[in-house]
Amino acid sequence: MSDEHGFSTRAIHAGQEADELTGAVVPPIYQVSTYKQDGIGGFRNGYEYSRSANPTRTALEECIAALEGGSRGFAFASGLAGQDTVARALLVPGDHVVVPNDAYGGTYRYFNKVAKPQGIEHSIANMGDVEAVRAAIRPGQTKMVWVETPTNPLLGIADIEAIAGIAHDAGAVLVVDNTFATAYLQSPLALGADVVTHSTTKYSGGHSDVVGGAVVTATEIRVPGYEDAEERIAFHQNSIGGVAGPFDSWLTLRGLKTLAIRMERHCDNAEKVVEFLEGHDGVSQVLYPGLPGHANHDVAARQMKRFGGMVSFRMRRGEDAAVKACAAVSLWTLGESLGGVESLIEHPGRMTHASVAGTELEVPSDLIRLSVGIEDVDDLIADLREALDIHG
Ligand SMILES: *Cc1c(COP(=O)(O)O)cnc(C)c1O
Repeated sequence: MSDEHGFSTRAIHAGQEADELTGAVVPPIYQVSTYKQDGIGGFRNGYEYSRSANPTRTALEECIAALEGGSRGFAFASGLAGQDTVARALLVPGDHVVVPNDAYGGTYRYFNKVAKPQGIEHSIANMGDVEAVRAAIRPGQTKMVWVETPTNPLLGIADIEAIAGIAHDAGAVLVVDNTFATAYLQSPLALGADVVTHSTTKYSGGHSDVVGGAVVTATEIRVPGYEDAEERIAFHQNSIGGVAGPFDSWLTLRGLKTLAIRMERHCDNAEKVVEFLEGHDGVSQVLYPGLPGHANHDVAARQMKRFGGMVSFRMRRGEDAAVKACAAVSLWTLGESLGGVESLIEHPGRMTHASVAGTELEVPSDLIRLSVGIEDVDDLIADLREALDIHG
């Protein structure tokens, strides 16, 4: 499958040749741990043991690499397992990482509670402000800049191309968590990132039925000392072993096939929900990169195809109103996670971001986050209107 093919063609075909044995058009679930060797060391197509490689996982890894335009993909049991593998593969004690000030809570927790006790230091920076990123760099010590864009749950936007320049000037690699935008809306590697990570649990899988992660490396990494990042990540994936299982890989691959059409519909629906929220008296602020008033709208317009399906907003009457509105909806599901076909609503301060309460990453208590699904948008808006009319 060549890079010249369109996104959906790659999503449906990359890594997914018809099965050699039967012609099955979808890669089978190779639910197997070990493989018969044709004589000692005589591996068939390199398969030896399923932690090291499994054909269903290989199909997913090839597909995600083709979608991100990278050299190689790696599939993990969760987004965080992938992130941990990247950090261990590329950092050693004494190194310093710049982390977003509104990173995914689990990402911040990882750097603060897991990596830090192992000697990897970090500073947090507002990634929406290029100068703040530059100021957070410790010359000679910063080896990684971690970017999420759009961010969760404040929908901040980081300028990937500008931050890649800053990271590379400092001798650091740029890792972009592309979970929110997905490979369909944004191509970090083409903008200069060295590694892309995903929680495929979200939009990539897209059906709230699987937890998974993916990592893709750039075709060429020029940061001195990191040219071999792909080999290091491959080695650590196998050595740590947090790999995606065959059925999980199959579900994620099935999700990816419809990523483009799902994202278009997520964006269509989100735009209409944003329009409704902007017109409601109970709402004091709508956070969406597609709004011209968003601080980095221009950057988002440059680096994203569209603005995604995540919308956050603040309730004029504060935390109590936000908590009650979340409970008053009926079609929207009160729940964590995001990116599935069904619409979700949540209160980040008490739910997804409760773990960052009291830190610099604490989120406003009047904030509600929506993962706008692909239902009929009129139904979604009618349900929201009912809740906001009572509690707004
Ligand atoms: C969910 C999420 C993660 C973590 O992924 P898991 O699959 O839950 O381990 C990382 N980054 C972002 C932006 C996420 O939304």
